[in-house]
Amino acid sequence: MTMENKKFISKEYLASLKYFSEKRREVPADYGSEMEKYRQASGLESMKFFHDTLAGELKSPGENRNLPVVGYLCNPIPEELIIACGALPVRLCSADSRCAEAGEEAVPGDICPMVKSTCGDFYNHINDNIDLLVVPATCDGKVKLAEILSPAVKEIYLLDMPRNTDYMKNIEVWTDAYTRFYEYLRDKFRARPTRNDLMDACRITNERTRIFRKIYEYRARHPLALNSFDYFILSQSSFLLPPEEWTEKAGAVYKECSSRGKIMPGDAKKILLAGSPILFPNFKILDILEETGCHAAADVMCSAYGHLYDPVEIDEETEYGILRALTLKYIAPSICPCFVGINKLMNTILDTVQEYGLNGVIYYNLRLCQVFEIQTTILRNILKEKGIPLLVLKTDFSKEDTGQLKTRIEAFMEMLV
Ligand code: SF4
Ligand code: SF4
Repeated sequence: MTMENKKFISKEYLASLKYFSEKRREVPADYGSEMEKYRQASGLESMKFFHDTLAGELKSPGENRNLPVVGYLCNPIPEELIIACGALPVRLCSADSRCAEAGEEAVPGDICPMVKSTCGDFYNHINDNIDLLVVPATCDGKVKLAEILSPAVKEIYLLDMPRNTDYMKNIEVWTDAYTRFYEYLRDKFRARPTRNDLMDACRITNERTRIFRKIYEYRARHPLALNSFDYFILSQSSFLLPPEEWTEKAGAVYKECSSRGKIMPGDAKKILLAGSPILFPNFKILDILEETGCHAAADVMCSAYGHLYDPVEIDEETEYGILRALTLKYIAPSICPCFVGINKLMNTILDTVQEYGLNGVIYYNLRLCQVFEIQTTILRNILKEKGIPLLVLKTDFSKEDTGQLKTRIEAFMEMLV
């Protein structure tokens, strides 16, 4: 185990960086009261578990589970390796305007709000019980968090990987990166997982994917059955809950919503959400869509579809074969803009629009996120050529532009056919 993977800043310099330890703010929010609005909008008894759980878990991810907790940022971190080593994976991406403000103690103001909010969570000591933080080499902001968060965490692992999702070129490099990560986890947690433990972890996440797909597909055809708030709360809860628990409770949600018979009127308009992740409590865009009667029937975001849609498909049941299969789940199909893979994003958008008869696409671009913004021109041109209406919204976590965004969404809805 190398020193670089424990902390990215040496002791000598860490001593000067006291911003995470000297001051302490109160945990920012009583998420329960914020959740109340979405609880009331729900109408599904089975969603109560997720409303309660997400509000509670966000205050202290993974606490009280009697397991080591591995926090991670972004999708390309293979949860199955963490589970096989007896730890709980929790994804710590954060979207709270108050945490973003607190994060400005550690990073400058004009940085992506999600990076600032993630810093703010650590600043607020929300993640104190994390045993290890795993940072993927995705966007520049996330990579630099490996250094910036060094004073705040016990140990950090940087999962470095090539940004080209060409399977033929990179499968061996990805598999090597996952192999090293697995070795690191085994050493850290003194775990000796067998090949069967790894297979079991894959079965567990595949079962979660199976239920998610049922929900995704049902909702894409009948969005009135499960509103967007519940859908994103359900998806985000999978960041924090043990997968078996999520699967069991989400199965109940599927059963309830699919038995309600809430069918869309034939002329109602349905749209696809793409772009930066949408995370509770920053539901500004969802609030506006709901107010304007716009049905966001499906998404291709890393906070829902990107986290849960792809299964592990194992064709060779050796440890190496499973690690390869994991790279094909997490990296090869990735539509995260940090990778070179716009063909995959375009194919996914076009296929989803066609499959579910969607009327247009809303692309949500978190302000100061260059990787999402830089690909808008390509997206705009291709969708125009295909005759698919596109609305690009650039915003942050503040509420100041709510009226303006609402006007633009209303105008977009009127032009949909
Ligand atoms: S889009 Fe990519 S880098 Fe951004 S939060 Fe999602 S997985 Fe991470
Ligand atoms: S929104 Fe953009 S800049 Fe922010 S963490 Fe995600 S990919 Fe990185």
